[in-house]
Amino acid sequence: MPTASDYDARRVSDAEAADGSVLRDLGSALPKLSTAVVDDDPNDASFFELPGADLSSEELSVTVIPQRADEFTCSSCFLVQHRSRLRSSSGGRMICADCM
Ligand SMILES: [Zn+2]
Repeated sequence: MPTASDYDARRVSDAEAADGSVLRDLGSALPKLSTAVVDDDPNDASFFELPGADLSSEELSVTVIPQRADEFTCSSCFLVQHRSRLRSSSGGRMICADCM
């Protein structure tokens, strides 16, 4: 029966066309994603390496000065300040002039 075979063939071709369009969409999207990842990897590596080198050199150059006898650490802003800026020391809490 030629009509039945023609009907079946048309259905198969329609399904193939639909599958083809879906595969084409996936095919166009996948290369974009892969190229984007490939482009980001080298940029990220170089971007993270440079700040890391700068931070390590900065860390070495920073000098930690210990708190002196005439200084105190404010209990509110946690800044080490001179005794002359101490405004309140009640209850063990040292409050500087800025935090009063
Ligand atoms: Zn303070």
